Amino acid sequence: MLDFLQLGIRKEINHTLKSLGIVAPTSIQERTIPSILEGKDVIAKAQTGTGKTLAFVLPMIEKIDVHKSDVQALILTPTRELAQQISKEIKRMVENVEGIQVLAVYGGQDVERQLKKLKGARHIVVATPGRLLDHIRRESLDLSTVQMLVLDEADQMLQMGFLPEVDDIIHETLSTRQTMLFSATIPKEIKSLAKKYMVEPEFIEVKAKKV
Ligand code: ADP
Ligand code: MG
Repeated sequence: MLDFLQLGIRKEINHTLKSLGIVAPTSIQERTIPSILEGKDVIAKAQTGTGKTLAFVLPMIEKIDVHKSDVQALILTPTRELAQQISKEIKRMVENVEGIQVLAVYGGQDVERQLKKLKGARHIVVATPGRLLDHIRRESLDLSTVQMLVLDEADQMLQMGFLPEVDDIIHETLSTRQTMLFSATIPKEIKSLAKKYMVEPEFIEVKAKKV
């Protein structure tokens, strides 16, 4: 079985993973990480609990240029809890990596306080669609430099009625971005969203649960 190093993840992060007891990639991680590192658009379908977060977080970290201070990656996720969870996961992963900055943006938090946090260098933004759009409209966040876009738990975003917001947000990012979509199910609305914005996406499906 392949390990994270063989998948192209640097040794500092491999070390962090090991210290957390994460030694072998799950099936979805094994199949998506190399494609994402290659720069491909990816549609990944795997059930809840199969490790989809690290499947996009790990290759994303590898691709961030810390010498730049602009927003390079955007992760859209349906709920505040998920936004907090994902940003926490990223922070854990970059503990031994110099300079990568993460910002979580979600509703229910004071907007003014969030605006202050937006001032520093942010490489990765994790956000719920509604609050992110507020910031875009206030011009407090520039997303034109985003090179990697992740639509996480896309079916939940659809269920919660976020697709129009997601659509608006995608228009704020450059067309040269790499887009990745992660979901437990792929309903037809998600398929059309993918068709509209993704370039020859690789479809990766994992059926059996394996963590
Ligand atoms: P999903 O988004 O597919 O529902 P998560 O990314 O939330 O799943 O991961 C579920 C749990 O599995 C988390 O607690 C995570 O830390 C753990 N996990 C992720 N990858 C691995 C792995 N390779 N080995 C062991 N545990 C893992
Ligand atoms: Mg998930």
